[in-house]
Amino acid sequence: MPLSIIQFAKKVGMTKEELRVRSSSLGFNIEADAKVIEDDLADLLYEEFTNELKDTADAYDEIIGKELEKEIIKTQRKKTAGKPPLKEKKANEAPAPTTSRDKKTIIEIPDTISVKEFAEKTGLTPVQVIGQLMHNGILANINQQIDYETAHIIAQEMSIQIKRKHTAAESEDILKGDIEKLLKEDDPSLLVTRPPVVSIMGHVDHGKTQLLDSIRNTNVIATEAGGITQHIGAYQINKKGKIITFLDTPGHEAFTAMRARGARATDIAILVVAADEGVKPQTIEAINHAKEAKIPIIVALNKMDKPNANPQRVMGELSEYGLNPEEWGGDTIMVPVSALKNQGLDKLLEMILVVAELSDLKANPTRPAVGTVIEAHLDTNLGPVATILINAGTLKIMDSVIVGGTHGRIKLMKDANNNRLNQLKPSDVAQIAGLNKTPQAGDLLQVVNNERIARQKAEEISGLIKEGAIQNMGMGLSEIVNQIQEGKLKTVKVVLKADTKGSLEAIKESIANELKSAEVAVKIIHSGVGNITESDVMMAAASQGLVIGFHTNVTPQVDRLSERLRTEVVVYKIIYELLDDLKKLLMGLLEPEIAIVELGKAKVLKIFYTQKTEMVLGCKILEGKAKAKAKIRVEHQKEIIGEGILESLKIVNEEVKEVEKGGECGIRFKGKPKIEEGDILQFYTEETRHKTL
Ligand code: GDP
Repeated sequence: MPLSIIQFAKKVGMTKEELRVRSSSLGFNIEADAKVIEDDLADLLYEEFTNELKDTADAYDEIIGKELEKEIIKTQRKKTAGKPPLKEKKANEAPAPTTSRDKKTIIEIPDTISVKEFAEKTGLTPVQVIGQLMHNGILANINQQIDYETAHIIAQEMSIQIKRKHTAAESEDILKGDIEKLLKEDDPSLLVTRPPVVSIMGHVDHGKTQLLDSIRNTNVIATEAGGITQHIGAYQINKKGKIITFLDTPGHEAFTAMRARGARATDIAILVVAADEGVKPQTIEAINHAKEAKIPIIVALNKMDKPNANPQRVMGELSEYGLNPEEWGGDTIMVPVSALKNQGLDKLLEMILVVAELSDLKANPTRPAVGTVIEAHLDTNLGPVATILINAGTLKIMDSVIVGGTHGRIKLMKDANNNRLNQLKPSDVAQIAGLNKTPQAGDLLQVVNNERIARQKAEEISGLIKEGAIQNMGMGLSEIVNQIQEGKLKTVKVVLKADTKGSLEAIKESIANELKSAEVAVKIIHSGVGNITESDVMMAAASQGLVIGFHTNVTPQVDRLSERLRTEVVVYKIIYELLDDLKKLLMGLLEPEIAIVELGKAKVLKIFYTQKTEMVLGCKILEGKAKAKAKIRVEHQKEIIGEGILESLKIVNEEVKEVEKGGECGIRFKGKPKIEEGDILQFYTEETRHKTL
């Protein structure tokens, strides 16, 4: 039963109008004529308002801290007057002041910690810590952050044992979504079995959605919320006391898009094949995508209720693609089902549990949580909400988190059955609220110590995103060549698309015959007839390979995606050229084709600032456009006098990415040439071009 607005305002000590204004300043919208307030929103606001009170108390602490600091500085000045600050502790110096803490306990300290927290954790008084820091030449106040290395020196001097705690990963790792790196440090003895996460794939209309709905409906867990369910991108069921997590955006496109972003969000793929239709193009794509991700496949032979269902024929077709049914001596589990009539679903779930057990899925539930965004959107009431799948650790209410380039505190967690949760364990999924901005599917979530670190890391990451280091999962051609030259890459993975079945087979055969002796092998991870799709690019990106097309088109969308994911798409019109290039590539001899793209010209009207290698210039764009990060040739009296880089671009005070012809802008130029008023700047970029022979 929602609370009346008046009642709620009273509860938080405000008038209705005050409540509206304060809520809106926090980004929550309450309509002027609203009579009631939804429970979720009421909880969130209550949390925010009580936090504000806490913040005021913290500010008060800070003032007291500053006074304390002044006192300490005074006494230390008296004591150390005339002595230089000591960097190293002398061996024969008297032991540090004793503390009440047992010296044998090892205290976990994160990468950075405030003086106050460090004092609390080590049982020292803030005065002792500040004094010791001063002793080492560091002037710090009680709220100041010290790094682990400094904390270690202080701890040693005070005879306290500390060790480094699991902390936020490097921003680059979070940005790149390098989840393996994030999770790798886990102590194996802390790992415990976690539920499997399952994705459903298959050809369109073979019954993926129906299967997800039927599994969910036949396994609804009684909920506090009275069985009202919502689609949040994933749900969990309980089968004989064992949990299974299903991602409910079916299709290999969603699956590979996540993988291309570095996310690890699926343990088992269910391949839905309609028993009346058999293997279709997307069935083959799904098989290849799952195989490339090295996850086990269970086949659901669907629509068994149909009179023309022919499972034997379908099994035969599947075995051509390497999926051999168990009953024929193979190792692929195939379960006949009817998603529509709820037949065979129990058996399918049992098989999922069997495969999960064989896969030995484990995670450490005790570490700070690491998770993956399954989907996210902006809710009119709750602000940004995201569905999170937990990869490891435990996520709790009020945890501070970094999610992609944003951050926040977990203020609300709800599962697909509308149950409010206080914590999430590995493989659990829930919708969360409390983030500052809406993240993207595939972004990584990471719990950090406090909001300050979350904010700082998120800013670093946003900075990296702005600089263009975005989602570089793929490997450009020059990187592939480099890796081959260095002997690091032994297999080049290729997604091959051709206009006809005949040419596709011919190319595959030639690759198999003519390139088999090369030291570096070519592995075709997917091939098909038709144009290059975004899904092809994502698959190549996720496997750090490239896409080769033969007589196919490259749409602008594919072009943009390949650039964003830094994945090469090369198109040929002659088989011989394709093979020749591949041969050169395998020998590490292929040089990428670099093309210069002229962007535009500008006249320098004013010099605002000059430094050794940096200048700020007021310019007018004469032709084309200026683009941030473009290269610049400097033209002085019709002669090129040098080159540099367009570091950043501003219109008045706002940073922009581009300025078009006629526009006036401020340009931060990096480079050696000394530019004068009246000079012309020529902007250009270098691109590795798609080959169209
Ligand atoms: P998706 O595109 O793979 O998600 O396919 P849908 O789940 O949307 O199903 C496509 C169509 O097949 C719908 O009309 C479903 O009702 C129907 N369908 C799905 N499963 C079955 C089944 O087991 N038996 C029959 N007869 N029809 C089914």
